[in-house]
Amino acid sequence: MEEKGYWLCENGHEEPIGTAFAGIELELSRDCSTCHKPMKMIRRDSMTGQERYESDKERKEAERVSAEKRAMAAQEAKNATTGEQTATTLRNMATNSRAFADKIRSI
Ligand SMILES: [Zn+2]
Repeated sequence: MEEKGYWLCENGHEEPIGTAFAGIELELSRDCSTCHKPMKMIRRDSMTGQERYESDKERKEAERVSAEKRAMAAQEAKNATTGEQTATTLRNMATNSRAFADKIRSI
């Protein structure tokens, strides 16, 4: 149904298109026969093509952002590890130099 196209009003009433001639829609607008609201034509080849493009773009953007966040989290974890290692190294160096100073004092 979407392939051929159909009319849809804002209240969700659907009506089939009936006046297409050789793929050319002869109706430019239509009012809903149920609620008399203006209807718009839904077609896969025009509107849904754009919508599909937009949704692809949004999905790719979401994937890119989450990949960036994962990379950032990995980098932060790495930085934290490096920072902890540095702190441990500095603590060890301080302990060693205190031990060395004690040793010198005891000579
Ligand atoms: Zn309607």
